[in-house]
Amino acid sequence: MQVTDLTSQPLSTTAAVGTREFLDHYQKFWAGTTIENSSLSANEIALRQALVLRHVNASAELLRVRGFSTDRIRAILFVGNGSANGHACLDREGAVAWFAIGCFKRELETKVFTMHELIHALHYAARPEFSFQTIEQKNTVWRQLITEGIATYLTKRLWNLTDEETLWADALPPEQIQSWMTACRDSEKRLFDLLRENFESHDLSIDLFYASNPADIFSFRAGYYVGMKVIESIATQYHLSHCDLLNVTSAGMKRLVLETLRSHPYQNLAHSAR
Ligand SMILES: [Zn+2]
Repeated sequence: MQVTDLTSQPLSTTAAVGTREFLDHYQKFWAGTTIENSSLSANEIALRQALVLRHVNASAELLRVRGFSTDRIRAILFVGNGSANGHACLDREGAVAWFAIGCFKRELETKVFTMHELIHALHYAARPEFSFQTIEQKNTVWRQLITEGIATYLTKRLWNLTDEETLWADALPPEQIQSWMTACRDSEKRLFDLLRENFESHDLSIDLFYASNPADIFSFRAGYYVGMKVIESIATQYHLSHCDLLNVTSAGMKRLVLETLRSHPYQNLAHSAR
């Protein structure tokens, strides 16, 4: 896997075509007006670059050992403006996992989310129909549910993590993660119904994949919880290997996910039905 490191240069001077294409994508879909961050010292940038690079290499090596085609993807490291820690996209040369190193400070969050973003890139490389070229595609519920579910579930399995670790790493205090998990379990039926009813929607008011309001799981990443549960259920029921999951067509995966959203045995149905 080729790694491009842009952490020690101003992004405005970057001339390589593939890199410019990625920076335009980052600005359009994630960053907004500015893509630079001038608040980190050179020393802090060097520390975070080393942290992210070490985990990107470790994650890529584990993926390679487990049979994933890591030579099909590239990685880009840059400082970023703090709007998102990473994701993946397609350009004319293939799939890119990108990492805004300014967002990474701790070991566990870096271990978890470098693997998570590399899986997004592998998934987009295998099945380009899961990537996005428009804001509407980016926000489409089924696309977010499936891609985030696969990235979260496979990260859990590959690093042998708990649900809590793969969903949040150490980004929140442990007691806050526990109460978030409890709230998700207690609201499983409402969450599953909401995702099923809005499966084809790209309405921005469906806030399940963003971290807008820590007091309300419906605006605080509960979509990741459902995605992980749904993909875990599909992988088990249909005996899909880790690599198989990345190769299911969008039509096939949408059908399996809708079936699972309809038939899932809720953890806490009595509470959910209130
Ligand atoms: Zn993701």
